[in-house]
Amino acid sequence: MRIVLLGPPGAGKGTQAVMLAEKKGFLHLSTGDILRENVKNKTDIGRKAKEFMEKGELVPDDIVLRMMLDTIKNARGKNDFILDGFPRTVYQAKKLDKELDKLKLAIDMAVYFKTSTKTVIFRLTGRRLCSKCGANYHIVNMPTKKQGVCDKCGSELYQRKDDSEETIKKRLEVYDNQTKDLIDYYKAQGILKEVSGDLEAPKVYSELSEILNTCKPDDRHKVRK
Ligand code: AMP
Repeated sequence: MRIVLLGPPGAGKGTQAVMLAEKKGFLHLSTGDILRENVKNKTDIGRKAKEFMEKGELVPDDIVLRMMLDTIKNARGKNDFILDGFPRTVYQAKKLDKELDKLKLAIDMAVYFKTSTKTVIFRLTGRRLCSKCGANYHIVNMPTKKQGVCDKCGSELYQRKDDSEETIKKRLEVYDNQTKDLIDYYKAQGILKEVSGDLEAPKVYSELSEILNTCKPDDRHKVRK
């Protein structure tokens, strides 16, 4: 089954994707994580993407599309995946559908994380990440046992540069202007589901699990064939 997670930054998409990957064996493909890895390793993609990411703007479609379509093609054989942070524009969604069609695959479900701006700002400003294993924490909701140190691997925590209040505002503006339309795009395909992104992670996870239980995977693919 192939699932797209939709919603503003800070809606909890990444947290849920990690839980679904751990508990149900999905492959978790996060554009943000892949881009950050490229920036860290100073690859061609990373060099091109860095300035957009730091400003809270979208990385140009052609760069992201090539990167994600390659990732999906290379993941062939692992057809149960979750897309987290991709697509981010209707243009990206259309291109993705086209490419999946060639592979005789389709997106089975898009889950919209309906989340208030207050929650988003609280979550993003308090978010901290492990510099080594990438584990996610929150200074209030999910603090580490020892301040600034990862519980899992003992490495130092850091705050993402784009989690500053100013950049968060920009990212939310970008979401309203360029990403929100995806909700209608997937609604029109009849595959949109909704969860309450304001709830705590375990509650969102049980909503998600219920939704997953009602979805018959690969039906759309059969219809398309
Ligand atoms: P995220 O980790 O999903 O919040 O993404 C961090 C940043 O990566 C975004 O603010 C964008 O600059 C960039 N980014 C992630 N996914 C996409 C995408 N699908 N299209 C364009 N830019 C993206």
